[in-house]
Order: sequence, then structure tokens, then C-alpha cells
Amino acid sequence: MLCRTIELKLTKLWHKAVETSLGKGNLARKNEFLHTLDTLFDILTCKCSIQLCSESNCSHSGKRENNSHIDCGCPREKKIPVLELEFIKAQRTKAEGQGSMQMGSIDYSETKKQIANAKKREQIREREQKKKMKSEEAIQREEELCQDEEEEEYGEEYEEEEELMQEDMVIEELVEMVMEEEKVMA
Ligand SMILES: [Zn+2]
Ligand SMILES: [Zn+2]
Repeated sequence: MLCRTIELKLTKLWHKAVETSLGKGNLARKNEFLHTLDTLFDILTCKCSIQLCSESNCSHSGKRENNSHIDCGCPREKKIPVLELEFIKAQRTKAEGQGSMQMGSIDYSETKKQIANAKKREQIREREQKKKMKSEEAIQREEELCQDEEEEEYGEEYEEEEELMQEDMVIEELVEMVMEEEKVMA
């Protein structure tokens, strides 16, 4: 649930970003931006490898609520909720470009090329970012957001208006982060 909330926010951010840059950026640039969002999305959770039951030799296919496994030693607040494992696995596969076939009407080879380019650029960027404290701060900020949301989920009183305001703040923060990142890349 937590991660779907985050995806929803990122989707909203994406639409906002498209609106802002409408007419300016080309498709490749937009795709790259989208890929940045995927990366943002991925740092919110643990990086441990997920295996689907169908990929392993386990015997509980169909017998459990979830059909996936993870050998995760991450701290509790970073762990992926069991019911989200399949969803995260699909997201990661998509980020790797293996799921491009699912994009349907979009030109497959062109999309694949763009994803490969974005991946190359991302590798360079990652190397540079590792040297910077800035990225550590960003990750920490995301973690704090995650924790805030977890607490919200358990809260009994829930002011929807307040949540919408917080969502706007989160989106603004993310827009700022992405803008900063784009500046660094430029
Ligand atoms: Zn299994
Ligand atoms: Zn983990």
C-alpha cells in the first residue's frame, strides 16, 4: 500500500512535469525524466533481489497470498511489504527495459533505444552522485517521507484535506529535487 501511494505521487509529479515542459522537451528527454522518477521510486525501498515463485523451485505457488520471495536483511522501515513484492518486481523489470513489450502501441525498438540511453546516462550520473553528500540527503529525505506515511496508515483520525496539502508539499519537494538533478546533468 505504501509503495502504491508513492507511485501515485510520482505519477502525479510526472503529469505535472509534462505540463510544465510541454512544447519544450522532446520524447527522449521526457523518457529520461520518467526514468529519473523510476530511480527515485526505487530508492524508497530495499534493493534485495525478489524471486517469483514461478522462477524458483518452491512448492507454494497459489497457496499463499503472495507469489514471491525475498531474502531481505534491511531494517524494518526499508523492507518491502510482502504483498508489494510482486508489484515491485514488475516495476524493477520495467525499469530494466525487459517489460517494454507491455507498452503496446509505443514503438518498441525506439523505446528500447531510449531506455538504453537513459540507462547509460544514469550509470554515469550514479557514479558522480555517489561522491556527493547531496544524494545521501535526498535518500534520507525520502526515508523520512516513507516513515511519515507509515505512521499515517496506522493513525485512526484521518484528515483528507491535510493529506492533500501534504501531498502537494511532497510533490513540490520532488519537483525541486528533480530540477536540481537536471541542473547538475545540464
Ligand atoms: Zn514460493
Ligand atoms: Zn532488503
